[in-house]
Amino acid sequence: MTKNFANRISIIEAEALELLDKAHSETELEEWRIAVLGRRGQITTVLRGISDLDPDSRRTAGAAANQLKIRLQAAFEDSKGRINSDETVASTGTSDRIDVTLPGRKVSSGSLHPTTQIIREISNAFNTMGFQVLDGPEVELDAYNFQKLNIPAHHPARDMWNSLWIDRASESGEYPLLLRTHTSPMQIRVMEKNDPPIRVIVPGKAYRYEATDATHEWQFCQIEGLAIDRDITFADLKGTLEEFARIIFGAKRKARFRCDFFPFVEPGAEMSIDCFKCDGQGCRVCGNSGWIEIMGAGMVHPKVLEGVGYDPQLYSGFAFGMGAERIAMLRHGIDDIRHFYTNDIRFLEQFK
Ligand SMILES: [Zn+2]
Repeated sequence: MTKNFANRISIIEAEALELLDKAHSETELEEWRIAVLGRRGQITTVLRGISDLDPDSRRTAGAAANQLKIRLQAAFEDSKGRINSDETVASTGTSDRIDVTLPGRKVSSGSLHPTTQIIREISNAFNTMGFQVLDGPEVELDAYNFQKLNIPAHHPARDMWNSLWIDRASESGEYPLLLRTHTSPMQIRVMEKNDPPIRVIVPGKAYRYEATDATHEWQFCQIEGLAIDRDITFADLKGTLEEFARIIFGAKRKARFRCDFFPFVEPGAEMSIDCFKCDGQGCRVCGNSGWIEIMGAGMVHPKVLEGVGYDPQLYSGFAFGMGAERIAMLRHGIDDIRHFYTNDIRFLEQFK
């Protein structure tokens, strides 16, 4: 065999193996096979070239060329095996060896938002006392959000509800629209459409134009309540709300009512419960006072009743409103209302 021929064989082998290393799919592998081992491939060309050699060299050259063919065929089979198992792993995510001792994969599932959960819980509590659950519009008329609730245009109490106006120009006009600042407008809507007796609660979103901090959000959920009938007294208000507090915060809870002002109730009250963390001894949750304020309430103002056409001599009732997130914060020891709507999955996952 000539020296040239031996050189040529080793160069062809080196180049072919290098190309084979770069083949990563069945298609690339097949292209390589045609180019190297195929009928018109490199090996065939080499074999044909042997006839040009002198007779003495032909035998050894032929043997060397056949050895090369066998080596390249073996390398081809190896690569084929490697690519097949790579493709199996890529398409199924598993190799053919299954490790039965590995723990199973956790299937993650969604769950109801903590606000939805507490709204359902509170709704159920009032449901057991005969209250119907209603829904209302979030875009509201000034008339329902303020005027019919005994809050006229320039009443100072309007400062309590910093408003997001939808049509600012009409603030002083005929038809002012805003995002409701509380769920109380539904008191009016329910009374205008129904005759007493009325027992409803209205969970829903409310909006305030104010800076956010640990206890304030510009959008939050309120739960409004209203009961109207003959001879409803403050004792009914107390009894209903104390029962609610016991259902949500535990059977031992005591309630405390103190005077507060809301233009659409008279008298108005703020309701607190004794701290469920320290049983009224004083702790971080209750700010060492032993009491936790949970909602505003009161007897529906006679002017409000008159406004919807009820006779205040005949009918009376009570109304209340609470922040759903605040109740959830107390229940779960959440220290910042902003957690509810930043959608951090690590926070939400705790309420499955
Ligand atoms: Zn406490």
